Amino acid sequence: MSYVFVSPGKYLQGKGLLHDIAEYTGPLGKKPFVLLSKGGMERFGDMIRKSFEDHGVAPLMQTFGGECTKKEIESQAAAAEKAGCDYAVGIGGGKVTDTAKFVAWKLRLPTVVCPTIAATDAPTPGRAVLYSEEGVSIKTYQLPRNPELVLVDAEIIAKAPVRLLVSGMGDALATRFETAACLKSSSKNPAGGYTTVAGASLAEACYRTLVQFGAQAKQDAMKGECTLAVERIVEVNTLLSGLGFESGGLATAHAINKGLTHIKECDAYYHGEKVAFGTLCQLILEDQDQDLIHEVFAFCKSVGLPTTLEEIGLTEKDQDKLRIVADVAGDPAAHSKNEPFKVNPDMIYQAMLKVNEIGHRIQ
Ligand SMILES: [Zn+2]
Repeated sequence: MSYVFVSPGKYLQGKGLLHDIAEYTGPLGKKPFVLLSKGGMERFGDMIRKSFEDHGVAPLMQTFGGECTKKEIESQAAAAEKAGCDYAVGIGGGKVTDTAKFVAWKLRLPTVVCPTIAATDAPTPGRAVLYSEEGVSIKTYQLPRNPELVLVDAEIIAKAPVRLLVSGMGDALATRFETAACLKSSSKNPAGGYTTVAGASLAEACYRTLVQFGAQAKQDAMKGECTLAVERIVEVNTLLSGLGFESGGLATAHAINKGLTHIKECDAYYHGEKVAFGTLCQLILEDQDQDLIHEVFAFCKSVGLPTTLEEIGLTEKDQDKLRIVADVAGDPAAHSKNEPFKVNPDMIYQAMLKVNEIGHRIQ
């Protein structure tokens, strides 16, 4: 039995860091492969290139094709190899940074991840999701290495649409409770071992910081201001949630998210929004203390995360759809298997209805 904790080599967060990117990535190599989306290239391309050129480095600047597919990874890796790149940098959302992780893995290079939104906890883990040409996720890979550096420009994130920051809070909300479930059931975490005291402590800090700063961070980010509250929530969504889930574990909250991805009416909702609803269901399923349940519902209300079925595109009348979600989430192979008791689809179904009922009652 082994306990495992994994993390990126270094995490740097602050205002305006992307302006000086070359200063922070300098020790990693002499020829960076830099991947940005088309929009990212328009917004940050000149600034990034200038930073490298000021350090006497000529980066290979590449525009992302739009999907993290096998074809995209191979063509980007071929370009990086031809140019003699010795490290990879992904700047943008999850698909861009995952593509950079895959390219780095293929060429055995160090990776730098620079998220420009804080909508999920995808930047820090050694994981990346491969998609089909149609944009359907095919497989999540656990890579042998985490990024060498995660560089977070909080000022850029503070100016991104606020719904993304709130969605990231929803993803982070699950971390403490999923880790606790894995600890109680002695389930392995995504890094492949049992949860350490370090992993559990970070999951706890993730939740406490979220409750303390979440609502204020939303208010500040709505004004585009990068305040202390915003900085704390950027760290929660990116570092604490990322380390917490990878070294803590996943359970029913993410199983319900997976179920919801099977329903097209839920496509308009972000990962973290679905995970937040799944977290509420997990608390009901676990028959948690009423004060705790109340605190988590109140938190969701305070930042605008969903507490009813309507807020994720469903109603209680959609019984067939709710049964599909419950069947996926309550499957014996789903992450709900990490609960400290046996979960079946009907328990998930009943928990979703109960959350909906409480959500309406406290509206
Ligand atoms: Zn997640």
